[in-house]
Amino acid sequence: MKINLSLKVKERLRKKYQEEREKRLRPDGNEQYLELKDQLAYFLDDPYMEIAERKPIKDDVQFTFVGGGFAGLVVGARLSEVGLKSIRIVEKGSDFGGTWYWNRYPGAQCDTASMVYMPLLEETGHMPTEKYVHGPEILEHCQRIGQQYGLYDDALFQTQVVDVEWLEEQQRWLIKTNRDDEFTSQFIGMGTGPLHVPKLPGIPGIETFNGHSFHTSRWDYAYTGGTPGNSELENLKNKRVAVIGTGATAVQCVPHLSKSCKELFVFQRTPSSIDVRNNQAIDPSWFEKISEPGWQQKWLDNFTANQTGGEASEDLVKDGWTEISRRVREKVMDLSKENRIPEKMWEAYEDADLEKMSEIRDRVDSIVNDSETGEGLKAWYGQLCKRPCFHDEYLQSFNNASTHLVHTDGKGVERITEKGVVFDGEEVPVDCIIFASGFEVGTPLQRRTGFDPKGKSRKKLSDHWSDGMRTFHGLQIADFPNSFIVQATQGANLISNYPSNLSDSAKTIASIIAHMLKTESRVVEVETEAEEKWVQLIMSGPGAMLGSQDCTPGYYNNEGIDPGPSRKSFAGYPFGPVAFFNYISEWRNSGDFVGLNFR
Ligand code: NDP
Repeated sequence: MKINLSLKVKERLRKKYQEEREKRLRPDGNEQYLELKDQLAYFLDDPYMEIAERKPIKDDVQFTFVGGGFAGLVVGARLSEVGLKSIRIVEKGSDFGGTWYWNRYPGAQCDTASMVYMPLLEETGHMPTEKYVHGPEILEHCQRIGQQYGLYDDALFQTQVVDVEWLEEQQRWLIKTNRDDEFTSQFIGMGTGPLHVPKLPGIPGIETFNGHSFHTSRWDYAYTGGTPGNSELENLKNKRVAVIGTGATAVQCVPHLSKSCKELFVFQRTPSSIDVRNNQAIDPSWFEKISEPGWQQKWLDNFTANQTGGEASEDLVKDGWTEISRRVREKVMDLSKENRIPEKMWEAYEDADLEKMSEIRDRVDSIVNDSETGEGLKAWYGQLCKRPCFHDEYLQSFNNASTHLVHTDGKGVERITEKGVVFDGEEVPVDCIIFASGFEVGTPLQRRTGFDPKGKSRKKLSDHWSDGMRTFHGLQIADFPNSFIVQATQGANLISNYPSNLSDSAKTIASIIAHMLKTESRVVEVETEAEEKWVQLIMSGPGAMLGSQDCTPGYYNNEGIDPGPSRKSFAGYPFGPVAFFNYISEWRNSGDFVGLNFR
């Protein structure tokens, strides 16, 4: 039910949000987390597949892509369409899938509608089975793309790139890996993903725990029982289990743990906002009707327009993401024409958000029986301060007598002992601790990728970016010829549908390479001035540090700490995703490739 808030209530809410933020701000920011190395390195081991021995590779390929998730797959697919013959994807996992290879926790499911989230649906002819499909179907889709475009032929799995350098004389990249491979490549692409290095909370005593523990991105089904497709975790029925963290991952796996464990303790520092999911099976006859040629691009454009305040006469996806913008748009439309000024528009945005979050908090009351638990599960911040969550079983789990919320009210877990988890001086003995504690975001890029490319002038990428990220279109870098980074920032920065950014970049890369094949060019370089102008344009906008001043800390806002020059790596195209997609499609279709030099 929609609500209208009085001025007094809004004032009270603003104050409450500030208080909740203050409670959580801490000077150590990203430093509060532990890097998984040395005695914690085993948390990174692949539980899904044994490491296979193989001989080192020494050869030459046309295109190397670091990362076999959606980025590598969509780029590989588009390159094979333009006729590139040798494409090598190097991937640390044992198969394609990236985030969907690693994250196999029970209940894993896409949070953005499958029709727009899953890339290349039209090209592969796959119909998603649900509005929000589950992990195994997405992983299978990744494998389908790999097979259809022949990307398995030259792929190197269980392999991490350790060094990358441009050899100007040969006009090639030299690539070295942790499996002693040493090969050259005309082009390199990098799509290592924004969230692929798991982190642990720096809780005192974490290394002393004598029970079993793992991170959600390395789910130990051998311990819990069940499989990613069958989340009945039969081995937990006699176990006391703690989950640490209540972000989007915990929201999806807690309902399954709640059904399976003897006792489940959910340690919460900050509650997530949990809106309605309303997942449904996709009806094949409906899908057949809508899937005329070009349907997926139409859905993508429609989602982006609806979700980011663009113009659209209908809302095809119609979900919690598009609702966020629809509500803001309605508030703005209520303003008289002369009142459509930034200050009033911000007020309209804030009104829509305060109302929505109040509804989300009311939803907790309508679901959770115990009022104290319900109070603890209410999120006191703007909906986009943290990743919005949508689920129809998470809050309900807390009505299960064996599921206990340990609400630490912003303080976090106090200590971990040999036997269990301590909060407020009370030890909760458990058999297993599951860390739903997320992934490294604000740490140095080289720490996350494991390599620091050396460009034409022998300068490292970390030096080129010593004053913050610098790119042309978020995709190419001056002094790094024949290279592409496939990610969202300094480009569309469409957070609500990350794969959309990647799919669009894949098209841009394919047009540049098609042009080079046609004109027999061997090297493409970004003009230094073009890069400089692009960075200036990006920084002239508001940046994408969503409400960093008012939001409760988290990885969306660098844990509430001003990132300094790194701010550049949070920002997107100042005029929004729709404008960026239009701009870049015109740029690549013109065939002029202004800002690039070919030789
Ligand atoms: P998050 O970083 O969102 O969550 C980590 C959790 O750990 C937070 O609740 C955090 O609390 C908590 N935490 C950290 N330190 C402590 C501590 N000392 N004591 C207690 N709790 C602590 O990680 P997730 O894996 O949940 O999600 C990461 C991202 O992955 C999502 O934001 C989303 O982008 C993506 N994702 C996408 C999904 C999808 O599309 N289907 C599904 C799952 C994840 P606090 O909030 O206070 O920092």
